[in-house]
Order: sequence, then C-alpha cells, then structure tokens
Amino acid sequence: MTTGVERIETTKLVAGELCLDFANTASRRTVNSDELLCSYEDLVFWFHYAGMLSEKETERLQHVAARQSTKSAQEFQRALVLREAVYKTYSALASERPPSKAALKTINAAATEMLGHLQISPSKDRFEWTWYNVKDALEFPLWTVARSATRLLVSEESRRRVRECQGRGCHWLFVDQTCNRNRRWCDMATCGNREKVRQFRARKNRGA
Ligand SMILES: [Zn+2]
Repeated sequence: MTTGVERIETTKLVAGELCLDFANTASRRTVNSDELLCSYEDLVFWFHYAGMLSEKETERLQHVAARQSTKSAQEFQRALVLREAVYKTYSALASERPPSKAALKTINAAATEMLGHLQISPSKDRFEWTWYNVKDALEFPLWTVARSATRLLVSEESRRRVRECQGRGCHWLFVDQTCNRNRRWCDMATCGNREKVRQFRARKNRGA
C-alpha cells in the first residue's frame, strides 16, 4: 500500500503545462490507474512536487489547512471540479471538438477569483504579473491552476499543440513541443513501450 506522497513522487510530470499535469492526477487510465489526490494535504504536496510551492510555503499551507479542516475539504473538492473542467476542455480541444460551456464556466469562475489576486509589478527590465494577498490562502492551488488553464487557452500556438495520449485507455494530456508536432505518447517509457509491445505481438500473431 503506497501513501499519497509516494504515489505523487513516483508520477512523472510530462505535460509541459501545469494545468494539464494537474488534469493527469485523476484516475482516468484503464491501466495502472491511481487517483493521486485523496485529500487537501495531497493537493498541497502535489503543488510542491510540481514546483509551485517552496518547502516553507508547503509547510505553512499544510498548517493552515489543519487548522481549517472544513474550509480545506471544500477547497479540495473545488480543485477536483476544476481539474475535471480542465480535462474536459483540453480533451475536447485536442480532438478538435468545441469545449463544453459548463467546463468553460467552471474555469472562468476560478479565473475571476484568481484575477483578484494578481497585480503588475516592475522587475529588472520589464513588468510582470505577480500574486498578492495569497499568503495562507487555501485557494492558492485552485488559482494557480486557473492561471495556467487560461494562459494556455489564449496562447494560440501552445493551445493548438495540446494532445491526448494515444496509449490505449491513457487519457493523459500534454503540449506537443516537438518541432514536427508528432508526439503521440504521454511518456515513451510507459504508453510508448506498451504500444510497441502490442504491435510486436500483433505482428507475431499474424505470423509476420
Ligand atoms: Zn499515455
């Protein structure tokens, strides 16, 4: 029996965009499927694993969550709803279907909240969006996913490169950053290999 932390630490981040890696934490696969996130604590740990929270920030948020168990349970559920909306939206776009209005509405609702916590700050030689008033905010993971999901939606070039893995029953999403746009698998070591083995067996059965 593996713990949530072990499950998270042994799962690769292959999507090239935070919101898609987050969508890939759900148990949608028909092979080797594990729900990675079973609690708000798992959610915070995953954001740390994905590089969005420092160790210190992670500990702090875990501490706040332990003190506000009802609110953290609500935020966990809201994050799962957003995760599903992100999956539905990008899965549709990957197969050139229009995304569902309900899924876009969920992303927009999270984005509206998120925008209330962003400001323009000057940095060395430019201006950039930075977070403000997010210290101790249990909503921070949700806003971070909303920021990634909306940024990807309006980035025509990256959005057109979103793919759903062609591995049987996989459903993982990723941004195809190859020059010739021919990435088919979430990960060559898992889905790519399984497909190669399947094709080899099929050839063998046909006596080729
Ligand atoms: Zn795959």
